[in-house]
Amino acid sequence: MVDDCIFCKIRDGKIPSEKIYSNDYCFVIRDIAPRTPTHVLIIPNEHVTALSKLDKQHHEMLCALFESAEKIAKQEGLKNGHRLVFNQGDDAGQQVEHLHLHLLGGRRLSGMA
Ligand code: 5GP
Ligand code: ZN
Repeated sequence: MVDDCIFCKIRDGKIPSEKIYSNDYCFVIRDIAPRTPTHVLIIPNEHVTALSKLDKQHHEMLCALFESAEKIAKQEGLKNGHRLVFNQGDDAGQQVEHLHLHLLGGRRLSGMA
């Protein structure tokens, strides 16, 4: 576990949070401050700090993130579309330096920025 990483602590059960899905590569929790009716975070088990740290060894993990997102989107009944977002760095408002994919949906979303 990486000290002081909130997502590592959630992964390890040190901070309670309901995991709505998990597999060998990642787990899914509801965002604590949802911006849309469905707002979940798909989080790799591995503490990867930034997209720039990814390489070929992460191929299966990355596939698992997107597969999980689509599974949850279906489970949540997001028939009319949804948005997947990686915030990267300060200008994007990234708060947690442990890679995670936001799944947003359940209402009409406005523009990109
Ligand atoms: P970022 O801004 O880094 O892309 O997204 C981090 C997200 O994690 C934010 O949307 C924030 O609301 C969420 N978050 C931060 N701390 C917690 C927590 O303890 N539990 C849950 N479920 N979500 C959290
Ligand atoms: Zn971490």
